[in-house]
Amino acid sequence: MDHLVALPTGRRADDLARLARRIVALGIAVCAPVLVGIWLTDGTDDRWVRWGYPPLAAALLGFAWILVARPTWAARAAVVTLVGIEAWWLVMISGRVAQAPDAATAWASLLPTPLLDVVVCLAVGFLFQRTRTALVHGGIYATLVTVVLAAELGRHPGGTDLFWPSVRYGVYLWVFLGLLLVLSRAKEHFAAAMADVARSDAAAARMREIAHMDELTGIANRRRLVDELGHQAGLVGPDHPVSVLYFDLDHFKQVNDTYGHDVGDQVLRLVAQITAGTVRDGDLPARLGGEEFVVVAPAADHESALALAERLRFALPQGLELEVRLRVTASFGVTQLEPAESADAVLRRVDELMYLAKLGGRDRVQSGAPDVPDRSHSPA
Ligand code: GH3
Ligand code: MG
Ligand code: MG
Repeated sequence: MDHLVALPTGRRADDLARLARRIVALGIAVCAPVLVGIWLTDGTDDRWVRWGYPPLAAALLGFAWILVARPTWAARAAVVTLVGIEAWWLVMISGRVAQAPDAATAWASLLPTPLLDVVVCLAVGFLFQRTRTALVHGGIYATLVTVVLAAELGRHPGGTDLFWPSVRYGVYLWVFLGLLLVLSRAKEHFAAAMADVARSDAAAARMREIAHMDELTGIANRRRLVDELGHQAGLVGPDHPVSVLYFDLDHFKQVNDTYGHDVGDQVLRLVAQITAGTVRDGDLPARLGGEEFVVVAPAADHESALALAERLRFALPQGLELEVRLRVTASFGVTQLEPAESADAVLRRVDELMYLAKLGGRDRVQSGAPDVPDRSHSPA
C-alpha cells in the first residue's frame, strides 16, 4: 500500500495512506450494487455478465475488505486483483467480438463499459504501483487490448473498416498513460518533499531536545529550567502552588580530589538518576551546573516540597553508597515560586536558603516560605 501514497515515513504519510485506502474501498462499495444491477438486468441475455460479474464483484469486495481490515496485504492484493480483472476484460472483449454477428455489432457491444474499464484499470495501476512499473504494466496491457481488438474485429466482414478506430482507441490509451505518468511523477516528488519535511522535523526536535538537555547527566539543563520557571510563574496562584528545591552536594571537591574527576562525574550522573527517580511525574529535575541541582515541583505546596527535599536528602547518600560506596550528602533550600517572579529571582532566593543550610552544618533542608516558620533539619 506504500505506493498508493508513496510516503516512506511519518504520521502524515500514514494518515494519507489510510485515507486513500478508505476512498478506494468506498468506491468499490458504491460499484458493487451497480454490478448487481447490471447482473440482474443483463445477466439473462449476456453470458459474459451472467458468469463473469459474480466473481468480479466477489474479487472487488474481497479487495475492499483487505483495504480496510488487512492494510498490510493491500499492495500485493491490489496487483493480484488488478491483473485478474485486466485478464477478465481482455477475455471478455475478445469473446464478445468473436461472438457478434458482424463487426459493427461487435464494436457496439464493447461500448461503453469494457473499453472504459480498460482505462480505469490503467489508472488503478498507477495508484498501487511505482510509476515505472505502472507505466510498463499499463503499456503492455493497452497494447495487448488494442492488438486483440483489431485482430478480432478484422475476422468479421467489414472489420477492416474498424481497424483505424481501434488503433485510435489504442493511441488514446497511450495518451492517457502519458498523463498518468506526469501525475504519478508529481505525486512521487510530493512524497519525497513530505519525507524531507518529516526528516527535518525529526532533526529539529532532536536539536531542541539536545539544547535543553544537560550533557553529562541527561536531565534538563539550565536553559530548560529557566523556561519551565517562566512557564510556571504564569500559572502559579493560590490554587496552583509551585515549589522550587535547590541542592548542592556537600564537600564534593573532596570527591574529585580523592577519587578523580571520572568518579566525580559518575557521582553527578547517579545524583541525577536518583533525583529523577525520587520526584513525582510532572516535577522537573534539572542540573544548574557543577554539583548544583534544582527541582521544580508544580502543584506541590510547601509541606510536600519539604517532604520531597527530606526524601532526597536520605535517598542521595543511600543510593550513592550502594552504587559507588561513597557517602555524599547534600544541602537543600526550599521555597515557593511567587506569581510572575523571574527565574533569576527565585533561583537567587532559593540559593540563599541553600547557603543557610550549608552554614547550619550541611546535610539539611532550609525552608523559606513566608507563611511557614523556617526550620532546619539536622542530620539524621
Ligand atoms: P560545599 O559543601 O561547600 O558545597 O563544598 P564543595 O566542595 O562541594 O564546593 P565547591 O563549590 O568548592 O566545589 C564544587 C566542586 O564541583 C568543584 C568542581 O571540581 C566540582 N565540579 C563542578 N562541575 C563538575 C563536573 O562536571 N564534574 C566533576 N567531576 N566535578 C565537577
Ligand atoms: Mg558543593
Ligand atoms: Mg557548588
